[in-house]
Amino acid sequence: VFRPSPALSKVGPSAITRMTAATAELKRQGRQIASMHLGEPDFATPGNIVEAAIRAMRAGDTHYTALDGTPAVKSAVQEKFARENGIYFEDDQIVVTSGAKMVLFSAFFATLNPGDEVILPAPYWVSYSDIVEMMGARAVVLPTHAQDGFKLRAEDLERAITPNTRWLLINSPSNPSGAIYRRSDYEPILEVIERHPHVWLMVDDMYEHIIFQDEPFLTPAQLRPDLQGRILTINGVSKAYAMTGWRIGYAGGPAPLMKVIKAVLSQSTSCPCSIAQAAAAEALRGPQDSVRRYLGEYRARRDLVITELSHCPDLKVTEPDGTFYAFVDWRALFGKLTPRGETLSDDEHLCQYLLHDCGVSIVPGSAFGTPGFFRISFASSEAELRLGMARIREGCAALI
Ligand code: PLP
Repeated sequence: VFRPSPALSKVGPSAITRMTAATAELKRQGRQIASMHLGEPDFATPGNIVEAAIRAMRAGDTHYTALDGTPAVKSAVQEKFARENGIYFEDDQIVVTSGAKMVLFSAFFATLNPGDEVILPAPYWVSYSDIVEMMGARAVVLPTHAQDGFKLRAEDLERAITPNTRWLLINSPSNPSGAIYRRSDYEPILEVIERHPHVWLMVDDMYEHIIFQDEPFLTPAQLRPDLQGRILTINGVSKAYAMTGWRIGYAGGPAPLMKVIKAVLSQSTSCPCSIAQAAAAEALRGPQDSVRRYLGEYRARRDLVITELSHCPDLKVTEPDGTFYAFVDWRALFGKLTPRGETLSDDEHLCQYLLHDCGVSIVPGSAFGTPGFFRISFASSEAELRLGMARIREGCAALI
């Protein structure tokens, strides 16, 4: 009998994976689906980065490297943190991993025990809760609200902390809400963290470069250097440089934590891909004009999506300050009938209706711990977005 590990008992394929499979199946049957479910830039990786990878291969950089990254990529990460965030990390305070997801996974693996709790402000990125559950720990989901810009309130955090709390995890700009924590949002939260020395803070800054506001991006380790001994700052090249397939993420944090993360890496990935590390070093050190170009594109796509949504009176959306996602409140449509006579009872159902009957793929809010919403990704091309938004509009208008 095949018996999977109990660690997987609460973890199935994510809603995004299921949507990807369903979309692929419909396309295979010849249906044209407007894909707006994937958080993946449609741009090609910039040429200078690709060239750096080719040079690395030709130079023979095709062997195992240090498990936490080559000296070259680690110093590029060090310089990035200093230049862009004003944070100074020593060599033993940095790891470079096979994607930022591997930092999350190894940090949780290295620190969580059954019974431990991780506080996740919702909506949160789907993988957070699943990874926490895989470790036998508990994801403590704290709902946030549109009227607070989907940001965690310090008083809610204070109430949620127990002796079992190990981590608070904040993602800014947020996937899926697009919310950005400003100084005034972070400061009261960091005061709560300061008062509870057993609680550590993990911050996921993956979308740092996709921000539409003029204010500079801020991250907690920069705001409170005195708390740096309890902060893990995670980032990566996937989204900023259209490098999702290269699988490079990185993090800076206290040396004792990095040491146990490295122990996990040493028995799992060994090291990230040597060629991708050379590419990531070029991404971080080389010209940054592609990042600015992508941002201009995302801004135009965001405006398109927000304008289109404004024509759907039953859908509400807070304009995202960052990322390439819009998080849409569809609760006004709850209980309506589809043209087939089915009552819309939850967001999984709405997404199935929009996929099968209208030909557009999106992700249900319940996947992000927030039912009653859905996520649109505007990392797809403008043509695909126009088609998808027209279909959403028609699909909503057809409900009675
Ligand atoms: N963090 C957030 C918030 C994300 O949305 C993603 C990817 O979707 C990741 C981390 C993972 O990035 P990587 O491709 O580096 O594993």
